[in-house]
Amino acid sequence: MKQMIYADNAATTKLDDEAFEAMLPWLRENYGNASQPYSFSRGPKKALADARASIAACINADPEEILFTSGGTESDNWAIKSSAFSDPDHRATITSAFEHHAVLRSCAAIERMGYPVAYLRPSTEGVITANNLAESITQQTRLVSIMLANNELGSIQPIKALAKTAHSYGALFHTDAVQAVGHIEINVREIGVDMLSASAHKFNGPKGVGFLFVRKGVELASYADGGSQERGYRAGTENIAGIIGMAVALKLNCSEMKKNQEHLLSLERELLDRLKHKNIAFSRNGSSNTLPGVLSLSFPGVSGETLLHRLDLMGICVSTGSACDSKNTEISHVLKAIKLDEKLALGTIRISLGRENTEADVAVIADAIGRILDTVGEK
Ligand code: PLP
Repeated sequence: MKQMIYADNAATTKLDDEAFEAMLPWLRENYGNASQPYSFSRGPKKALADARASIAACINADPEEILFTSGGTESDNWAIKSSAFSDPDHRATITSAFEHHAVLRSCAAIERMGYPVAYLRPSTEGVITANNLAESITQQTRLVSIMLANNELGSIQPIKALAKTAHSYGALFHTDAVQAVGHIEINVREIGVDMLSASAHKFNGPKGVGFLFVRKGVELASYADGGSQERGYRAGTENIAGIIGMAVALKLNCSEMKKNQEHLLSLERELLDRLKHKNIAFSRNGSSNTLPGVLSLSFPGVSGETLLHRLDLMGICVSTGSACDSKNTEISHVLKAIKLDEKLALGTIRISLGRENTEADVAVIADAIGRILDTVGEK
């Protein structure tokens, strides 16, 4: 079988072996419902509490500030919709034009219900500054939601300054940290966010599970009504195996963060050097402060779509735009938001390296791009 090189880690990551092993007993022998009073349910109940404490410790939160969800999309929907509806005197939301669709479409939904939303435009490097926010924020603003790191560009946002500006107007601050959690250090106290979304499958945990950090004191409406799980804020029998897998994966990624970052930065350099040595014309999008391993690269004269499919035939997985938009040949909303020249935008791919990638992988990727450009594009 042809060997596959997976370089789309911003779309999803490989489930960690240790996380997988840790999940198994909760799917098989320890299948009890954590809400039941008998002793068979004590194990799942304790495992949930331990997972909550472990996840909280990774971002310097308190355990009761972690609410389990089905992933980033649900966490974003919850934070945005419940904030908008929570205060009739402060109905406005501010977000940015290059958020993930989980945020943008939640905002579109509240707009349809009559809640005003303003969309800040990032700089051409993909950064929203506190000054940008200060120009739009008013005393009517209830929530500011700006992502911690952009999923197409990797650019990291000045969250601490943005949260400070939001708070100076009495607004809440939410960040979609789905791409950042487990990859760069996050201390919720230090950056001062009120809510933060995360998703396990982006940090080598299982799919379909995530969490929303909600700072103590922030009053959030319930997301799903029913049983009293998640203190009644999000009813539904817990995905115990998924939550355990998420906790193990996050702890591992956080304890090995420095090592992983160095590895990814070195692969990134290697890839860029190899492309340069082949005299390939390309430019990198985003700012100088970017998630390690995430590269948005534009190749003039070739379509990103063609590159993606040709790389796929060679066994290499990359992405054009964000994963959910891979079938769409339109320029992604992120590249439009940073006003990338159309010719470059159409020739853009995202290579997102992960901890499993090797130097040999990036050598193969660079060679493959060189060979494709030799046949279809400009060098
Ligand atoms: N937010 C960002 C920045 C993302 O990259 C993604 C996934 O691509 C999501 C939210 C959605 O997360 P999930 O797949 O867990 O619903």
